[in-house]
Amino acid sequence: MMELKHKKILVVGLGKSGLASAMFLREQGAQVTVSDLRSVEALANELPALLDVGVMVEAGGHGLLTFRRQDWIVVSPGVPLDTPELAQARGFGTPVIGELELAARFLRGNILAITGSNGKTTTTALCGEIFRAGGQPTQIGGNIGLPVISLVPQSVDNGWSVLEISSFQLETIVEFHPNIAVMLNITPDHLDRHGSMKNYVAIKERIFANQTAKDFLVLNAENAETQQMAARAKSQVFWFSARRPVRQGSFVYQDAVVWRATEQSSAEPILPVSEIPLKGEHNVENVLAAVCAAKLAGISNDVIRKAVAAFRAVEHRLEFVARIRGVEYYNDSKATNVDATMKAIAAFPGGIHLILGGKDKNSDYTLLEPLLRERVRVVYTIGAAAEKIERQIGGAVRIVSCQTLERAVDQAAAQAKSGEIVLLAPACSSFDQFQNYEHRGQCFKQYVLARQGVEAWQNVSA
Ligand code: ADP
Repeated sequence: MMELKHKKILVVGLGKSGLASAMFLREQGAQVTVSDLRSVEALANELPALLDVGVMVEAGGHGLLTFRRQDWIVVSPGVPLDTPELAQARGFGTPVIGELELAARFLRGNILAITGSNGKTTTTALCGEIFRAGGQPTQIGGNIGLPVISLVPQSVDNGWSVLEISSFQLETIVEFHPNIAVMLNITPDHLDRHGSMKNYVAIKERIFANQTAKDFLVLNAENAETQQMAARAKSQVFWFSARRPVRQGSFVYQDAVVWRATEQSSAEPILPVSEIPLKGEHNVENVLAAVCAAKLAGISNDVIRKAVAAFRAVEHRLEFVARIRGVEYYNDSKATNVDATMKAIAAFPGGIHLILGGKDKNSDYTLLEPLLRERVRVVYTIGAAAEKIERQIGGAVRIVSCQTLERAVDQAAAQAKSGEIVLLAPACSSFDQFQNYEHRGQCFKQYVLARQGVEAWQNVSA
């Protein structure tokens, strides 16, 4: 554990995790300063609580001097590590860590850490439910719900922290060491921040870099990048696959999710695939990964089966919104990259009216083409990436330029026939037109549900 009393610690970035870190450090007796680019006015909600407990706050920019003579710097996941002030501090030999690393040094009990390009939130929420049902003291956090540092006070030696971990958080770990690490899949994402795919993969692999032979690593057997990782792991590797049997781990066999504990043992059934209440093969993969983690934590088959069957889709992840005149509307606003959009399209056999666009992340939309040809009737484009998307996929499918989400919903509703699907799975982030993907998903649901009123009214007046 780090000694914090009387240490000078700077927290950079006052998001949810920065705020929680600052409060934690102060409670431990550290002399804490917070630095954020936002103005005093923009930080009005956060400032009073910090000032009340004696945290110093620098708002509206980072001063080079603030970064000098600190014992530690705790950096928030949103802050680029090549920020000049951080580079300077590192040059002076000041350790720079993230909130996850800080928390891990104080967290008691076992850690299950889940990462990947897609499926983290779904799998983390599901694991949380299964572990809780198994009767183990369980907290979930990280990228979902509470920051990891907020789990510290309630953590106990025989309990589990189930953590959703992003690549941004892994960039700033040093000793963080999960008992079970899950690597769901690696597909291109965040290349705008991480530069190359090679760099992105290297950052993701840090989740198991500090593991030892006593720990477990759960890998996707069907993903080209994760297949390679076993060779670089020091921990015990287990696999999951929705397509074929694996040496040890979980897989689908004769329409059931099964578990094989060792290469020598036979497979034991956990639950029929038909009991999985989520759409799409990607969600079968998420369930397989969760089953693998739960079995490694010693949870019984019966508990796992019941907890999986009772699970419901997390909001904005292929969430069913409404059925209006036979057309089903699905909100997958969290599909912020091309792979997630491909998975969303693949979850429906055809007749899809797909809303695409938002803020581009340097993505290659041509990858969508085969699925667009096969299953999508019309694409409705919105946001800043619209032009690039139209250029890249124009040959594959009919496109309607809509600019705004509201217009896209109107257009799609006008064109979709009974039995078809209107799907928001935009393959882009939302920051060009919305506060975040949640805001985008909520707007979508509002526009859809408003139509219910409009169409009912039209029916009456017709
Ligand atoms: P994350 O937390 O990694 O972003 P989510 O569970 O929030 O993952 O899902 C993000 C998006 O990816 C959603 O659009 C969801 O439908 C899709 N998705 C979920 N699981 C997977 C998976 N295993 N592979 C690919 N896409 C997935």
